[in-house]
Amino acid sequence: MSLSLYGSPLVVTDSGGKDSAICREIVRRSGIPYEVQHNLTTADAPQTIYYIRENFKHLEREGISCQVNYPFYKGQRVSMWTLIPIKKFPPTRMQRYCCQILKETGGQGRFIITGVRWAESVKRKNNRGIYETFTSDPSKKIVLNNDNDERRQLFENCTLKGKRICNPIVDWKDRDVWEYIQSERLPVNPLYEMGFFRVGCIGCPMAGKIRWKEFALFPTYRHAYMRAFGKMLDVIHNSGLKTRWKTAEDVFSWWMEEEQVEGQMSLTDFEEWRMENAD
Ligand code: SF4
Repeated sequence: MSLSLYGSPLVVTDSGGKDSAICREIVRRSGIPYEVQHNLTTADAPQTIYYIRENFKHLEREGISCQVNYPFYKGQRVSMWTLIPIKKFPPTRMQRYCCQILKETGGQGRFIITGVRWAESVKRKNNRGIYETFTSDPSKKIVLNNDNDERRQLFENCTLKGKRICNPIVDWKDRDVWEYIQSERLPVNPLYEMGFFRVGCIGCPMAGKIRWKEFALFPTYRHAYMRAFGKMLDVIHNSGLKTRWKTAEDVFSWWMEEEQVEGQMSLTDFEEWRMENAD
């Protein structure tokens, strides 16, 4: 499908996690032409960067094209640390602008493979399937589970343009993933050996209280967030916007969902503040 619809090979998106390791392997074994892309989030642990580099070196030796996609926002190269002052609020569980900008940049106009799995999230079970078309209008999105008749019809008739996504391990359980990794002796990100269950940005709001462990292991990332929060407050004050945060520490405490401190916003206050100061 990738060759006939796009005239170019399938793209395996590699986040550096265990699910991507499996996707790389099953595509490699299938013998079809493919490329690998990694979206640089700029907030991944050093172990992830080294692991990706090492894999890319091996793949390129085998003639597989590998590419790192750098994040851009409104035509400007960004990082997690420059994005926070631009957006004027830190990423939260409900406002994950960072994923859209830092993680989903690559693969435009291509057929891509991802390692998303239903077992990772209930929400994904409801809105992700084996085959998807990617569109900003959710009402136009097509998601297929493993109904063969339905899939056949779409594959033959679909004329939509844009990114198409295949999620070949969408129904794999965690046990399936680890069994495959062990039986096929796939090298995985060393973060798993350090006790991490998931590989993602250090300080990701989706990681909840695990972030305390992450910042204890990677204190420079905590400093980077602090600096970004300080710059964000400068931007807010210079633009004449109102905020109850006084210091970068206030923002950090709120963001880490500690007990409320004086002047801290509740999530409801924050949503209202965002509505008033939407970028
Ligand atoms: S911090 Fe979390 S939500 Fe943001 S880009 Fe990284 S993984 Fe996605």
